[in-house]
Amino acid sequence: MCEFFYEKLHMTKMAHTIHFSASLQKYHFFICCKPIINRGIMSIIGTRLQQARKAAGMSLRDLATVVKLSHTAIKKYEDGDTYPSSDILIKLAKALQVCIDFFFRPAKVSLENVKFRKRKKLQGKAESAIKFTVINQIERRLELENLYPTPPVSPFVLPTNFPQEINNFEEIEVIAENLRASWKLGFDAIHDLTDVCESHGIRVFVIDTDEEHFDGLSTTIDDQPIIVISTKWPGDRQRFNVAHELAHYIFINRLSPKLDEEQACNRFAGAFLLPRETVFQIIGKERRTIEWQELLLLKEQFQLSMSAICYRLKDLMIIKESYFKNLIIRFRARGWHLKEPGLATPPEKAHTFNQMLFHALGEEYIGESKAAELLSCSLSQLKALRQVQNSHDFTYQRC
Ligand SMILES: [Zn+2]
Repeated sequence: MCEFFYEKLHMTKMAHTIHFSASLQKYHFFICCKPIINRGIMSIIGTRLQQARKAAGMSLRDLATVVKLSHTAIKKYEDGDTYPSSDILIKLAKALQVCIDFFFRPAKVSLENVKFRKRKKLQGKAESAIKFTVINQIERRLELENLYPTPPVSPFVLPTNFPQEINNFEEIEVIAENLRASWKLGFDAIHDLTDVCESHGIRVFVIDTDEEHFDGLSTTIDDQPIIVISTKWPGDRQRFNVAHELAHYIFINRLSPKLDEEQACNRFAGAFLLPRETVFQIIGKERRTIEWQELLLLKEQFQLSMSAICYRLKDLMIIKESYFKNLIIRFRARGWHLKEPGLATPPEKAHTFNQMLFHALGEEYIGESKAAELLSCSLSQLKALRQVQNSHDFTYQRC
């Protein structure tokens, strides 16, 4: 039967875009051989279908038009009253730009304490699409972690002396210093911020989105921190966003109402990435003027944007407020608020998922078909990846 199904798929135009997942094969077998499909599976498919449709910003009628069905048919799938054929499932996956396996994955993750770092214009629709991508990545990651015989990620733990209440920026400077000390980071630049966070129980996801109003978000699952940043931005901005999102998490229920949360998180990000003792040592405690070259050298050393460094110098009262304002005006006049001079900071990469996946494969915690399913690729693509063939050509799908 499967051979027949493969043949049929090969004849469709979609065959080159949809890989033959193990889940689809099983599903096809189910609906061909069993008169009544398991209600649990229908409910999972229905929930997933609705989730993907909403994330794509499509109404029932929009989706029905694309896949050439009635909107009532789609509604019945979503309500779990009936189930789509394998062919229709493939059409739905293509229309909604999700992989087939997505429809079979039980929904387990709900995001708590979500804080979006965004520009004003991020629309509700874009926000749900980002949450959808994030949930998918998190679900795959947690599924993989659960296949390990012992948990591969240690829980995040705050330093023992962490304050219950945070009242001012001076306390935030001290928190950043203490966190650096407790993580044994010294006073130098943190070169691989994502890895540092991951090794302390903070899961970091880098999502590929064209949404230019999205900077990042922090959320929790079972009280454990999750940080999400976008591929859209240069490395220096991504790093600042990771540190900013980390602050949102560690400040939960501790920040005095007198403090603005965004300003507090920005202050922590600056202090954590560029410790004040280091700035005092390099720049001095009080300056009348600052050379552009000084900012550029600090940027290259600490992988923090020149504009963030200007703010840092003002926050530490190394330069006066009036000089800072003047500096920013001249900075913008050169167009540096759009593109800063100097070498671009390399983007942050979240390697952890792939490292964990190939580790699990090597140790046989998972088999090749599970690995392919988690990577949303075909078995042949996985085999090529294992042999490090065409690795640079392979792009990981969003779900
Ligand atoms: Zn924020």
